[in-house]
Amino acid sequence: MHCTQCGSNHLRTSRFRFADLARLLLFQYPVRCRVCRERTHVGLLLALNLRQSEKIRRRESRVDQR
Ligand SMILES: [Zn+2]
Repeated sequence: MHCTQCGSNHLRTSRFRFADLARLLLFQYPVRCRVCRERTHVGLLLALNLRQSEKIRRRESRVDQR
């Protein structure tokens, strides 16, 4: 999945807002680009995968700090 603005694949799940509720009904979830800060929506399953990999990455970096 890529940013619609700059084409980067450095996306992270964005904070969910009330306005995103309508998008959620279309199985879309908000994400934000780490490069250009553009906020966009991707398929819900993609967003859940993204969120899962963020969790794993966070766990790994915590191990590294020890
Ligand atoms: Zn971007």
